Amino acid sequence: MNCSCRTYKEAVMTDVFLTDAQIKLRGQTRDYMAQEVTPLAEKIDRDDVVPETLVRKLLAPPLRLTAMSVPKDYNGMGLSTLDVCVVAEQVGYACPALIPLVEIAQLFAHGLLFGGTEQQKKNYLTRLANGMVGCYALTDEGPGSDPAGMKSTAAKTEKGYVLNGRKRLVTFADISEFYILFAKTSPEKGGKGISGFILEGKPGGLVFESHAQTMGLRGHRAFNIRLDNLFVPEQNLLGKADEGLKLALEILNTTRISLAAGFTGLAAAAFDTAVKFAKQRTVAGKPIMENQAISFPLSELAARIDASRLLTYRVALMHDKGMRHKKETSLAKFYAAETLVSAVELASRVLGAYGASPDYPVERYLRDAFSWIAAQGTIEVQKLVVSREL
Ligand SMILES: Cc1cc2nc3c(=O)[nH]c(=O)nc-3n(C[C@H](O)[C@H](O)[C@H](O)COP(=O)(O)OP(=O)(O)OC[C@H]3O[C@@H](n4cnc5c(N)ncnc54)[C@H](O)[C@@H]3O)c2cc1C
Repeated sequence: MNCSCRTYKEAVMTDVFLTDAQIKLRGQTRDYMAQEVTPLAEKIDRDDVVPETLVRKLLAPPLRLTAMSVPKDYNGMGLSTLDVCVVAEQVGYACPALIPLVEIAQLFAHGLLFGGTEQQKKNYLTRLANGMVGCYALTDEGPGSDPAGMKSTAAKTEKGYVLNGRKRLVTFADISEFYILFAKTSPEKGGKGISGFILEGKPGGLVFESHAQTMGLRGHRAFNIRLDNLFVPEQNLLGKADEGLKLALEILNTTRISLAAGFTGLAAAAFDTAVKFAKQRTVAGKPIMENQAISFPLSELAARIDASRLLTYRVALMHDKGMRHKKETSLAKFYAAETLVSAVELASRVLGAYGASPDYPVERYLRDAFSWIAAQGTIEVQKLVVSREL
């Protein structure tokens, strides 16, 4: 079979589960990322910005990163969740700072698919598919793990709603043309009084307070935003009033799948760097790979990365078959996050002092991993979700 796999072993591991079209998609994405993105990954980290030209390239054919989950009826690519995972893993491998671009498109598209009226779908999904960017603002000024406790409010007026409050960590809010945003329409009802809204453009009352600085995943830009008497017209309510939290969680239950694939991609990048180094680095006359203290932890990590990929593929297939997958999504997400943490830690140890050197990507991978794992819900919150389903 003609495929540009990194190793023969990877091909054997995953190709059993993929169609020929998915194997081709993986190879094309990998080749594209290797040519267009990998050479820029270090500069993106150093400058803390993804060049606008690169963003535009990634939104255009062949990748169309924001159009992947948009159905063909709205001019999208109509890819399956498993297809999206195949792409997300390659993006995570090459440059994790770009995964948030994939993720906000997933969040926005699924928000419309799950909660939008036909009119809203036609309007926003078509434009998303044509390369516009949409983002997702759920996390409030309080703890992100407790969205029911959000403080942002949306007061009903004659023609719509007036929003006040603060949203944190809104990824790529600066380049987004649209937002899905959540606020309390019935604060007295707690989590059962939240509604979703669609914002278009940068309306008056949407105030950018600060760029959230992070030690890693640099280049992905997240912003802290204030809602200052921000008016949203009635027709921009997303889903039913007071049912927004259910919608927000349904969206996350789907988009966490491709995020797990992105984590697996970065774990694989750290693993490949460590294996290559261990085979080349000679200490006391033999490659360090010949010491079991190095090779056995790498073997264990190989198993974890395979398991992480398989858990992700399983839940992607469950979603594509229309099955319920709350437990399986959170299993895949926390397992992939923990695998990523193990991978960057082991890679750093295998490289010795080079693990901290900017001459190797491992120190960047370490910073990326720890800046990233809380996105769309922490490891602990995913375990909480699983435990409630046991
Ligand atoms: C890279 C990145 C991008 C992001 N992009 C967006 C975005 O675009 N839009 C958006 O809305 N949000 C975004 N977020 C926010 C993200 O969803 C939150 O960071 C996440 O939900 C965790 O919230 P927190 O950081 O406030 O942690 P907290 O909720 O304050 O949690 C702190 C600690 O307490 C633990 N904890 C909390 N509750 C429990 C519990 N019940 N049991 C055990 N432990 C618990 C947590 O696991 C964590 O260890 C992003 C975050 C990151 C890292």
